[in-house]
Amino acid sequence: MDDKHMLMIPGPTPVPEKVLLALSKHPIGHRSGEFSQIMAEVTQNLKWLHQTQNDVLVLTVSGTGAMEAGIINFLSPGDRVLVGSNGKFGDRWAAMSAAFGLEVETITADWGKPLDTEQFREKLAADTEKNIKAVIITHSETSTGVLNDLETINRHVKEHGEALMIVDAVTSLGAVNLPVDEWGIDVVASGSQKGYMIPPGLGFVSVSPKAWEAYKTAKLPRFYLDLGKYSKTAAKNSNPFTPPVNLVVALQAALRMMQAEGLESIFARHQRLMRATREAVQALSLPLFGPDEAASPAITAVAPVSVESEQIRAVMKKRFDISLAGGQDDYKGKIFRIGHLGFVSDRDILAAIGALEATLRELGYESMTPGAGIAAAARVFAQS
Ligand SMILES: *Cc1c(COP(=O)(O)O)cnc(C)c1O
Repeated sequence: MDDKHMLMIPGPTPVPEKVLLALSKHPIGHRSGEFSQIMAEVTQNLKWLHQTQNDVLVLTVSGTGAMEAGIINFLSPGDRVLVGSNGKFGDRWAAMSAAFGLEVETITADWGKPLDTEQFREKLAADTEKNIKAVIITHSETSTGVLNDLETINRHVKEHGEALMIVDAVTSLGAVNLPVDEWGIDVVASGSQKGYMIPPGLGFVSVSPKAWEAYKTAKLPRFYLDLGKYSKTAAKNSNPFTPPVNLVVALQAALRMMQAEGLESIFARHQRLMRATREAVQALSLPLFGPDEAASPAITAVAPVSVESEQIRAVMKKRFDISLAGGQDDYKGKIFRIGHLGFVSDRDILAAIGALEATLRELGYESMTPGAGIAAAARVFAQS
């Protein structure tokens, strides 16, 4: 049967009907009064979502473009940066920083483990000459389903005083509490196809006053992603270049839906989806890849032993039209990942777990009690 596709990957994420309808409208002029009004509302609501008074700028890029803007606007060649890496996206930060000629020192942890906050404290405390210009981490490491302790790492950055805190929040924003102003996070990068519930194509960067100070003396070349241009035009509810107007209209619809649900409820829903998924997977005797204490509310990674990850994904897609994500790099074929980010409800988890049980049965997996996964998920939903 066609047209019943269910995306359970960590981006692109499912798109609500209200947003699809907003997308289907004729494009309007990006210099029109009508579009300015939309920009004004979207800008306010983006600040609400980020819990900040800082600028939150809208770029026509994927999430990686937002990350790049977060580097080139605030740093200069040769600047020393501390990069946390415990997965594919942390590696991307390190590679990108090196590509721009920064002096990169990485703090690594094994894939599936969170970054050790003490190592950040030690490195920052040892830097009495204040040479470290930025600490750069991934909040929710999508490749492994691990949530890093941004709050603690940021506290050490604040004690250091000089370094900027630059964060990839692509799969944490809109899924878990990230109070940008309360914590004082300088630069936060995110992307539309994750927690925002709209298709790929927009990137977002929030910029603190301290980061704007650094912007004034930063010497890396910048043009299309020069955030100064975006901040100037944003003040007039406009854009330096032609934005994807349809996506901005879709964003307006999505942010209204998020406001109607409320931040607390959005975070609670993601916690519930995460807990139900993790309990269900364990009830089916499938090992979870990361520890409970550092579980991302956006995505759950599973490392099955007596059954192949890629076979599970293939049957889930073929028989039930549910897309799950595979492992990346060294973990290709070793893990599979269930996305539960954005427009995802309790019902979606029950459907996915039910299909997973049927898939495991079809693959001859014998280490489970039929129905145990659904029962575990239902138990979580009944409690919360
Ligand atoms: C999806 C994602 C990105 C951005 O990837 P793009 O393909 O450039 O949109 C960056 N960081 C994390 C943690 C992600 O999950």
